[in-house]
This record gives sequence, structure tokens and C-alpha cells, in this order.
Amino acid sequence: MNGNLTLTILKPDAVANGHTGKIIDHILQAGFRIKAMKLIQLDERTAGMFYDIHRERSFFKELVGFMISGPVVPMILEKENAVADFRELIGATDPAKAAPGTIRNLYARSIEANTVHGSDSDENALREAHFFFSDLETL
Ligand code: ATP
Ligand code: MG
Repeated sequence: MNGNLTLTILKPDAVANGHTGKIIDHILQAGFRIKAMKLIQLDERTAGMFYDIHRERSFFKELVGFMISGPVVPMILEKENAVADFRELIGATDPAKAAPGTIRNLYARSIEANTVHGSDSDENALREAHFFFSDLETL
């Protein structure tokens, strides 16, 4: 069964470029509801923990460096079929390959500064939601 939650992060490029308002509007217009949201500055340890599955990848150090280069906006989003629908809304990891009209196609500059994160499974959506919003008692 598909879950109804996903976790997104508006990445440092989205915040630095002043795109957060437009991206949030895009997400709301697509039928997602915001269950939780905050603006935070990640540190190296926290960003590394979040991307722990990529620790052995060649781009890990750059990825963490980018994610701590400025504030980010994590959000828990709610919608039927949230994980798959949100990944369709944001487009491919590499913005050069992201379909027209997707968030990465509209706002992202590179595979690293790709504007938004989206959970890749229901299990990871819950894990990531608790990672950023451990104070929420029920999700
Ligand atoms: P995200 O997890 O951020 O939603 P994704 O699921 O589309 O993105 P992943 O394979 O999980 O892509 O990679 C995580 C992040 O690592 C990407 O969003 C991107 O910023 C970065 N990344 C992925 N592949 C590369 C690469 N080849 N070179 C540089 N950075 C990369
Ligand atoms: Mg991913």
C-alpha cells in the first residue's frame, strides 16, 4: 500500500536564490498539504547522517558541503501516493534531464544544486520525517 507522507528539503540553492515561495506554491497547487515545516542551518554531522546511504559515493563530501552552505527548509508533505507523486513533481536528479515544468527543470542549476530533495520510499519518508521533526508525536 502506498503511504500518504513524504519528506522534502528545499536545498540551499532554493533558499539563496529566493525561490522558496514559488516552490512552496508549486507544491501546494499540486495538491500536497504541509504537515510540518522549518528553516534550519544543517551542520556537517547532521547532513552526513541524513545522506548516510551515499557515504561511499564519490560525491558525498561535495554533497554534504553543499547542504551546509546555507539554510534549508525541510517539510513533511501529505497527499495520497505522496512519495511517487512528489518525485514526479520534482523531476530527475539531474535538472538537465528533468521533464519540462518540474521543479528541478524550472529552478535547479546542476545535479548538486538541484533545489529539492524527495523521499524515495514510504519507509524512508517516515525515517526522514522523524529525522527532522523528532518532536512530532504522531505522523
Ligand atoms: P534527493 O535524494 O536529494 O531527492 P535523488 O533521490 O534524486 O535526490 P540521489 O541518488 O538520492 O538522488 O542523490 C542524492 C543527492 O546527491 C542528489 O539530489 C544530488 O544532489 C546528489 N548527487 C547525486 N548524484 C550525483 C552526482 N553524480 N554528482 C554529484 N551529486 C550527485
Ligand atoms: Mg534520494
